[in-house]
Amino acid sequence: MNPESGYEGSSSFGDTRLFHHTPNFDMKNEMLEDSLEMWKEVENKSGKKIVHNSEILVFGDKNSRMIKDGVNELPAEQILTSEQITERYSAFENLPDNYAGFVTDKAGILKAKVALEAYKSLCEEKGVELKYNTKIADVSKNEVKTEDGTIYSADNVVGKCLSPESILLHF
Ligand SMILES: Cc1cc2nc3c(=O)[nH]c(=O)nc-3n(C[C@H](O)[C@H](O)[C@H](O)COP(=O)(O)OP(=O)(O)OC[C@H]3O[C@@H](n4cnc5c(N)ncnc54)[C@H](O)[C@@H]3O)c2cc1C
Repeated sequence: MNPESGYEGSSSFGDTRLFHHTPNFDMKNEMLEDSLEMWKEVENKSGKKIVHNSEILVFGDKNSRMIKDGVNELPAEQILTSEQITERYSAFENLPDNYAGFVTDKAGILKAKVALEAYKSLCEEKGVELKYNTKIADVSKNEVKTEDGTIYSADNVVGKCLSPESILLHF
């Protein structure tokens, strides 16, 4: 339950979120491609810049799954030893010897706060009433019941972060 859009108690709080290609994870990468297309649509409709492409460095223990997958999948010029990471990104000094990383330019930053503002104004343009400080007490495929007993009906209910009990009981 939020007192406002992008409230600090929600996981969408803050200015930015990172995204990047994940080696050896086709499903996640397909979701990334789909998401970028959808963000582009929101950008076009709202006139706000939400996605900012940027090279991203992923690093850690070279025996970790993501680093191993990066080493196996990516061209050699994208793979960095711990010394090469420090040479290229001087803020990361004294990295342990067992560290390695990779860089990918299929990556960037999503402006989370701007995205929420864009969604909010697109909803308001369509006449959607946004309700804050309103706890959902129960949910089914076609109905949402708030704590004060009001019932909202629809052909379909789309839920985010509902309690596991609600989801298990009704879907
Ligand atoms: C510190 C941090 C860093 C992250 N970094 C990244 C990153 O770099 N890249 C990335 O892709 N992802 C990242 N994530 C994950 C990403 O931010 C979340 O997956 C995303 O914001 C989830 O959005 P959401 O709308 O599903 O949930 P939320 O933004 O959490 O919204 C769910 C809302 O539902 C409300 N709610 C819950 N139950 C009820 C109820 N019964 N009645 C009424 N309201 C209710 C909650 O209060 C909340 O406001 C990060 C998350 C965190 C916390």
